[in-house]
Amino acid sequence: MRLSRVKLTGFKSFVDPVELRVLPGLTGVVGPNGCGKSNLLEAIRWAMGEGSAKSLRGGAMEDVIFAGTASRPQRQFAEVAILATNENGEVEVVRRIERGAGSAYRINGRDVRARDAQLLFADAATGAHSPALVSQGRIGSIIAAKPAERRQMLEEAAGISGLHVRRREAEIR
Ligand code: ATP
Ligand code: MG
Repeated sequence: MRLSRVKLTGFKSFVDPVELRVLPGLTGVVGPNGCGKSNLLEAIRWAMGEGSAKSLRGGAMEDVIFAGTASRPQRQFAEVAILATNENGEVEVVRRIERGAGSAYRINGRDVRARDAQLLFADAATGAHSPALVSQGRIGSIIAAKPAERRQMLEEAAGISGLHVRRREAEIR
């Protein structure tokens, strides 16, 4: 699976709608401190179904919504759309969060569960916790990881973590 486009609106510092194309090959994001590089990576992980506000440097999930500045009011919602290409063609995943209303997901225009978005990427080894997305401080955490955590990273890389999620779901039922 390859990420080809990211659209953001109201997500953290990305208050105005922006569309970014991701070209084949290695992509680097550069800019001065505080310009939004980490926010961009977090937006991609968020759209893939990241469920932990803490790992997005927030206290609550609504903290991803543009909080306002001295000159601009806060926003009521944040939305991130990512377009990816897999063996079945293009797939667009949209996650939206509204103040007081929580998150909603769409895949190719259809309303889906968070799980559906997570599984889509878990199977492709590109999920929100995938080692393909290297967040700030992540190298250090990989070096310091316990064996079980390192095994989980290898399973994500091998694209089999989706199977574990499905097994856990099957056991709960
Ligand atoms: P560094 O080079 O230091 O790692 P960076 O480019 O990764 O910087 P980010 O951490 O992505 O920068 O962006 C930080 C900026 O995003 C801060 O100015 C912060 O105020 C802003 N920000 C974060 N969350 C929100 C929000 N909900 N609403 C508005 N601005 C936000
Ligand atoms: Mg950063």
